[in-house]
Amino acid sequence: MNPSATQYPLDASRMPTHWYNIAADLPRPAPAVLHPGTLQPIGPDDLAPLFPMELIMQEVSTEREVPIPEPVREVFKLWRPAPLFRAHRLEKALGTPARIYYKYEGVSPAGSHKPNTAVPQAWYNAQAGIKKLTTETGAGQWGSSLAFAGNLFGLDVTVFQVRVSYDQKPYRRALMETYGARCIASPSMETQYGRSVLAGRPDHPGSLGIAISEAVEIAATHDDTKYALGSVLNHVLMHQTIIGQEAMLQLEMAGDDPDVIVGCTGGGSNFAGIAFPFIGQQLRGGGKTKQRRIVAVEPAACPSLTRGKYAYDFGDTGHMTPLTKMHTLGSTFTPPGFHAGGLRYHGMAPMVSHLRELGLLEATAYHQVACFEAGVLFARAEGIVPAPEANHAVKGAIVEALRCKAEGKSEVILFNLCGHGHFDMAAYSNYFAGKLTDQSYSEEELAMALSGLPSVPA
Ligand SMILES: *Cc1c(COP(=O)(O)O)cnc(C)c1O
Repeated sequence: MNPSATQYPLDASRMPTHWYNIAADLPRPAPAVLHPGTLQPIGPDDLAPLFPMELIMQEVSTEREVPIPEPVREVFKLWRPAPLFRAHRLEKALGTPARIYYKYEGVSPAGSHKPNTAVPQAWYNAQAGIKKLTTETGAGQWGSSLAFAGNLFGLDVTVFQVRVSYDQKPYRRALMETYGARCIASPSMETQYGRSVLAGRPDHPGSLGIAISEAVEIAATHDDTKYALGSVLNHVLMHQTIIGQEAMLQLEMAGDDPDVIVGCTGGGSNFAGIAFPFIGQQLRGGGKTKQRRIVAVEPAACPSLTRGKYAYDFGDTGHMTPLTKMHTLGSTFTPPGFHAGGLRYHGMAPMVSHLRELGLLEATAYHQVACFEAGVLFARAEGIVPAPEANHAVKGAIVEALRCKAEGKSEVILFNLCGHGHFDMAAYSNYFAGKLTDQSYSEEELAMALSGLPSVPA
């Protein structure tokens, strides 16, 4: 019980042994996942070409606790438990009476929260006798995480990297190659779908939706190859709950309990990781009786949760995935090449979308310049340079801390600092040079991509 400390180190023996599955505690289950041809709910066999059965069973599980395999926990010991910091210097810089805590996931080998799911996904695939994995990556964080994890378990990893990021971030590619993966700019000539996109537009900047289609196509057409996704799916969100479970134990050490929990959302996984264990505790009627606020922060340039439609949509641009009900901007939406590459996805995790519909979380969007400003303020106070995606969470936490200041309230704010920005310094340079611009969409522009939504009878 020491709120004046700066760190709350959790002993390795207290690293969580289970993932938390929020499906066990929902007042209403999330809508079914549909087969795009029949529009009927899909079964485990429909996903078998893409994923090993253990992961498919996790995807549909309603067990509250799913054990983390021992070999996976062994790998986690390289960086977990991850630190929880009290942001004393940020509080002082803001002059806020709020107590701000942040969970730092940048200590992983790849520098973000993504190895938390890359390692178990690689392990379950290796257990199932799979030899190769394909995936997509936006900013390169997921690609480097899967490259790291695949190498540990003897899997060949091929990463389709969104063209703009491939060109802007050569060092992420070098990191993937260091771990032994092969990295291809997407759209590429290696898949039928990639070739069709390039035929229409040879200089296409790519998008996560297109890169997913390419990776899925390879996995679906090769028996020894499966596909791995770094966010969005239920099992991925569940793997990230180790973050929130650790934070809960660490906040107990601090003698504090969060009033507000903030995370940035691209596909929704790091946000789910920090928030779901706390939401679940509340759904079960435990923990604090006070109502916690759960705040998802997304980029105004890719505003799926705040401005998207809650509807059935494809997860990819080539329309090879099942249909899931989620907040979406439309699978043909091509976000601009703004720098928070990891947040450029047209949809939001179905589970996060469902919780939003249930009124269990709030969503807000900020423009990138304001987020970089927040990130620089954070770096100058706390020392850590956040990833551009994480800057959205920093911005959200600062907004809450300044509200506390205005209202004279000493609330407890917890946010997820989901990664460091060491591979993103070019984006910081652009920010300092005044070269970053904010992009907004008119309702018409958003309506255009939404007009292509598949029609699914209610
Ligand atoms: C990938 C990534 C994100 C976005 O993905 P989520 O699934 O929403 O977490 C955010 N921050 C960092 C650092 C990332 O690597």
